Amino acid sequence: MNTAAIIGSGPAGIATAMRLKKEGFDSIILEEHDEVGVPENCSGLVSKKGLDDLKIDVSEVTQNKIRGAKIFSPNGTELKVTSQETKAIVIDRKLFDQMLLKKARLMGVHVSTNTKLLNVRKNTLFVQNYERGEIKKAEYVIGADGVNSTLRHLMGLKTTRENFVHTIQATCTGEFEKEYVRLYLGDYAKGFFAWVIPLNEKKARIGLGNILGENITQNFKDFLNQNIPNVRVFNPKSSLIPYGLPLEGIQKENMALVGDAAFQTKATTGGGIVFGMKAGNILGETIANTIKKNGKLSDYEKNMGLINRELRMHWKIRKYANGLKNEDINKLFLKLKEKGIEEFLEQEGNMDEPSKFIGKLAKKPSYWFMAKTLLNIARS
Ligand SMILES: Cc1cc2nc3c(=O)[nH]c(=O)nc-3n(C[C@H](O)[C@H](O)[C@H](O)COP(=O)(O)OP(=O)(O)OC[C@H]3O[C@@H](n4cnc5c(N)ncnc54)[C@H](O)[C@@H]3O)c2cc1C
Repeated sequence: MNTAAIIGSGPAGIATAMRLKKEGFDSIILEEHDEVGVPENCSGLVSKKGLDDLKIDVSEVTQNKIRGAKIFSPNGTELKVTSQETKAIVIDRKLFDQMLLKKARLMGVHVSTNTKLLNVRKNTLFVQNYERGEIKKAEYVIGADGVNSTLRHLMGLKTTRENFVHTIQATCTGEFEKEYVRLYLGDYAKGFFAWVIPLNEKKARIGLGNILGENITQNFKDFLNQNIPNVRVFNPKSSLIPYGLPLEGIQKENMALVGDAAFQTKATTGGGIVFGMKAGNILGETIANTIKKNGKLSDYEKNMGLINRELRMHWKIRKYANGLKNEDINKLFLKLKEKGIEEFLEQEGNMDEPSKFIGKLAKKPSYWFMAKTLLNIARS
């Protein structure tokens, strides 16, 4: 019997498997597709700090280096956050997953592609391998199977339409500022935002997210017409991002969820690579401690405390932003600009860990006009 069967070969699943292996335990990753990293539905923007924390060298899969962001309110007021240093890296997501897989395989992690989880009964997994049904055995079953997780469903965790953001993204050609990502707020991106992530001066990933039920194709056209009309759009693809608090009850009996399956995604930006991999490390260690009798699998949620604290803050910021009307956002942008938010974020901004700057912001008298909101977020 395998120690663990990990469903899904995304970053969260591979991180879990590698951590388990480092602790001396074998696992098998089951992946429904025949190639890892495919289909690719990601902008590939990852914080430099997050990658450093994870000790991952992405030089072989780096497409661009980013040192700032330009954020636009619905009426076009711009907040520019810049830095002399690289703040984020744009990676080729398919190659990134394949690079992780190669590292995992070198460590001795087993991967079975074309293997789809259908059902689980305790230690027995019912899978489909190509057209054939098969049975696999594992002591622990880990759902790293992404936003539409089968294991989450089998564990009885319910989600609703409100728990997902609908996204569309395309590769576009045009003229772009290579070192800045652009984020746009407006009616075309209700509940989320639109983005331009440059790959170089001539190519970018452009997309937007909105609540489910909107006409996303029309919204994307409106966004492009209003903001960047002179681009050529190739191969737009639609997908979902988990949207809400990190799920509770993500461990049950011998099963646990990690990554998008567990909603370990930043609700402000939709980014889930860094947090999913950090959670994978924590889960791998928790399983290892369970086997070594230094802990229990049910410690997983407790061990996720610090990460969940940040994820909850991301959600509070998102909820606050979603409660504002366009006019409120326009006014807020002007006021924040006047109070020096660009310089503040330059010094203190951290795209993964809002706790690092929300507390500091709340202590500055110039931002006391939003004291109630800041305190509410800081108390997550
Ligand atoms: C448009 C868009 C842009 C994004 N941009 C960014 C970004 O810039 N930066 C960032 O950090 N994050 C971004 N994200 C989010 C990021 O892609 C996810 O958070 C991340 O991929 C989650 O990793 P994961 O390992 O949890 O799941 P996934 O990467 O989704 O991997 C899950 C794997 O499980 C497999 N699987 C699913 N069901 C089964 C089954 N039943 N049996 C076997 N295998 C199964 C899938 O094939 C897949 O390979 C973006 C998401 C979208 C949609």
